[in-house]
Amino acid sequence: MSDVECSNLFLLPFKVTLDTKLRWFQYRVVHNILPTNAWLKKIGITNSDFCTFCQRDKETVKHLFVECNKVIDIWQQIRNKWTILRGLNTFNICYGMLDSGNDNFMVINHITFMFKWYVYKYRVNQTNFSFNAFIRLVDSTIELEYFCAQRKSALDIHFKKWNACLH
Ligand SMILES: [Zn+2]
Repeated sequence: MSDVECSNLFLLPFKVTLDTKLRWFQYRVVHNILPTNAWLKKIGITNSDFCTFCQRDKETVKHLFVECNKVIDIWQQIRNKWTILRGLNTFNICYGMLDSGNDNFMVINHITFMFKWYVYKYRVNQTNFSFNAFIRLVDSTIELEYFCAQRKSALDIHFKKWNACLH
């Protein structure tokens, strides 16, 4: 990857979402400082680098968000619902997708960031984790952005961004 592509990936969270917690989350992912068990073991904080969910593989970013059995099924359901997400490769899911003229690049990244954040939240808090709960999270985000866009008279931008998810 070139330096330009690399710095564009670093800027992606700030371009795609206004949500501070999501920006901070994705910032840690792209800078390889998100505490996974593999990362925590490397810096000597934990003895085991096994995955919190399956206890079978090393808990890396790639395992946690792409490979783990705990997340694969839900990812599949999400991709069945929103076909725009089907072309993503492992790198795109882990680190993001750069703008290559894809009209849906904003929303593809936003949903991917949200899904990883949702998985990570579950890893930390062991809270509710289901396809339906994730869809509700996306719906409430769309609603929130709608109200922000309305206030700024920018509904056209809002609908352009979320168009692929609104029907
Ligand atoms: Zn696992």
